[in-house]
Amino acid sequence: MQGPILGNVRGIINRMWKSRVVKTLIGIGLIGFALDFFFPVPTNVPYSTLIAARDGSILHAFLSRDDKWRMYAELDEITPTLRDAILFKEDKYFRYHLGFNPVAMLRATFRNLLKGRRTSGASTITMQTVRLLEPRERTYGSKFIELLRAIQLELHYSKDEILQLYLNLIPYGSNIEGLKSASLLYFGKPPVLLSLAEITTLTIIPNRPSSLRLGERNALVVQERNRWLTRFRTANLFNETTITDAIDEPLTVRRRAAPQLAPHLSRRLRASFPGEPVIHATLRPAVQATAERIVQNYANRIRALGVHNAAVLVVDNQTQEVVSYVGSANFNDVYDGGQVDGVRAVRSPGSALKPLLYGLAFDAGFITPKTKLADVPTNFAGYEPDNYDRRFNGPVTAEFALGNSLNLPAVALLHEIGVTPFIATLRRASFSTIKKQAKGLGLSMILGGCGVTLEEMTRLYVGFANNGEVKPLQFRMAVDATLSPKKQTGVPILSPAAAYLVTYTLTQITRPDLPNNFDNSYHLPRIAWKTGTSYGRRDAWSIGYNQRYTIGVWVGNFSGAGVAELSGANTATPLLFQLFNALDDNSSNGWFRNPKGSAALQLSSRLICPETGDIPGEFCPNPVTDYFIMGVSRYRRCQHRKAVFTNAAGTISYCAHCRPDSGSVRRSYPNLAPEVAAFYQSSHVPFERIPPHNPVCERIFGGSEGPLITSLNEGSEYFINPKQPAEMELGCQAANDVQEVYWYLNDKLYRKALPTQTVFFRPRPGRLKISCADDKGRHSDMHVVVKNE
Ligand SMILES: [Zn+2]
Ligand SMILES: [Zn+2]
Repeated sequence: MQGPILGNVRGIINRMWKSRVVKTLIGIGLIGFALDFFFPVPTNVPYSTLIAARDGSILHAFLSRDDKWRMYAELDEITPTLRDAILFKEDKYFRYHLGFNPVAMLRATFRNLLKGRRTSGASTITMQTVRLLEPRERTYGSKFIELLRAIQLELHYSKDEILQLYLNLIPYGSNIEGLKSASLLYFGKPPVLLSLAEITTLTIIPNRPSSLRLGERNALVVQERNRWLTRFRTANLFNETTITDAIDEPLTVRRRAAPQLAPHLSRRLRASFPGEPVIHATLRPAVQATAERIVQNYANRIRALGVHNAAVLVVDNQTQEVVSYVGSANFNDVYDGGQVDGVRAVRSPGSALKPLLYGLAFDAGFITPKTKLADVPTNFAGYEPDNYDRRFNGPVTAEFALGNSLNLPAVALLHEIGVTPFIATLRRASFSTIKKQAKGLGLSMILGGCGVTLEEMTRLYVGFANNGEVKPLQFRMAVDATLSPKKQTGVPILSPAAAYLVTYTLTQITRPDLPNNFDNSYHLPRIAWKTGTSYGRRDAWSIGYNQRYTIGVWVGNFSGAGVAELSGANTATPLLFQLFNALDDNSSNGWFRNPKGSAALQLSSRLICPETGDIPGEFCPNPVTDYFIMGVSRYRRCQHRKAVFTNAAGTISYCAHCRPDSGSVRRSYPNLAPEVAAFYQSSHVPFERIPPHNPVCERIFGGSEGPLITSLNEGSEYFINPKQPAEMELGCQAANDVQEVYWYLNDKLYRKALPTQTVFFRPRPGRLKISCADDKGRHSDMHVVVKNE
């Protein structure tokens, strides 16, 4: 049954194949494909790069590669009103034709023959687009190529895309191209906000750009505009009221400068996303404008001091989005390096990394807020840090030490935590310069001996505000919802409990890094903040946060010049306070609460002895409350005093070996660390001493003598090579009940050691007093002189 039907079909195909018409059509088709393949439409137009704010407004515009203001309007910026007006005016049948309009072409050809000259009018929007893409001399040959190009364009692009391309290329005179450029540069607003009168104005200029000059021949422009509005009325294109309003609307137009907000971030985004015509930044335009104004005013005020630059970063803590980015006080200030991006410049952090170290010490269980730390002169294997004001406070609480930015306790904590683990944490928090410097860094890094950027520091503090979790900052609006910052996993660097303790400590306002006279000049915002001042007073930092924002402030000179008056407290903090007061006065977001984590990491409170911060012991009568992290914070009985057996007069102490049967008295004495005892002694602070040990005790050789220093000779001179000073040896002989000895160089504790251990030090020229004390409080001294060879 199927045989005859199949046969018929074959017959038809055979006959068609032999037909010339079909062969010709296939031939044309193949040539068309080949032409299309080898001569694609050149739609790759160099656009101006636009940096948009989160609300779509344009923050910054750059000239295109070929120095044009050719701004890219996105599809949703072409409103129905704009589309209807432009189609009515230029190409009524745009929706229906295939790139050319045969009726209009025939009509135009007829007219041309009749009048003997060429008139326009036959060009569709598609053909005009082709001409804008590839300008050609106006000959019949070019017309034919343009026709083919128009068909090609229609085959590759949708009608909306062709209209978009057309609107983005139409000329407005000078170097302005495209309706969006004209809209922004003449009316100061994006296309979606244009009124019908403004739209009509912008649709008539491209036809006569030389006679209808905007801002110069406005009367003529209004006349022409209203002629078209009247035509729109006749055609019933818009309702009557809209037309009447448009005709009555005055023409307020002037040439404006292209928007130039956020110059540093705009350059950064353009470099990161090359070729993208519109980049949507996360900035809030109002916040950005406010921050730029405040920074510039502030920089003008401190210029007299010799401080010329400042940079500010404002981050939304919930989304990690950068809402303001001020790279320098004045981008256009060539003399002071205004184009340098202070957000990314590598600088010394001063003390601004200390909060992270204290957080890590909370998490390691080493300290709680009221743990006593020794702020006394200490020698860390040859490194003897000083305090900012060159004074020492003796034993202080951890919260006081952080709040007052004391150096010795911070270095001691870093010594305890370890430089390597500290660097590892900073690497996990994406500190890139520290990652590169890692091998060369030592204990001094906690006082600023390392390189950081304002961006890295602000991101770290955003982490403090987010339960100790550091996430990448967002500079560009998420294109894809799955990449939204809320879904990105962060790097936990502190437990929520430790982060809370850091916040709690940095919120206390009884601290010295408030600006001078701040009571009179500033309203104090409710924030947690920390300052930093780098060595040589080159960098002033103040970074603060509340629930809503983290603001990082850096003030200094890009040239690196130090200024005597520069400090985190007096130079950076006033700017930080001003910014918080302007951007988030009376924050409605509330304050940080004690976090609820897994039971093991919960923050709770306990009674401690204020002398040490440890659990009260036998001799601790006045306990106070302190925070602690359950299962983490060290549990240690306080030993701030210890029991000692003495004679009734309290002039001789006994050990278990020599305690007389006839009777003794049990008393308590301060149990001071040797470096603290040494500090009290040198600063003449009186303290109760344990009476000398029973002289007739058989357990001790040598009576009340201290250890015998055996390595050097009393009164001798020692010569060193100043270029490569060799290390010198310290050794001693101590009594057999001695567990530990303490070596002092010029009355500063140098090292704790076993009595049998050899200790090395690197001498410096000058008089040197060497002391060795044992753990029974006896000591001996030796004096030598060190000279250069
Ligand atoms: Zn105690
Ligand atoms: Zn004894």
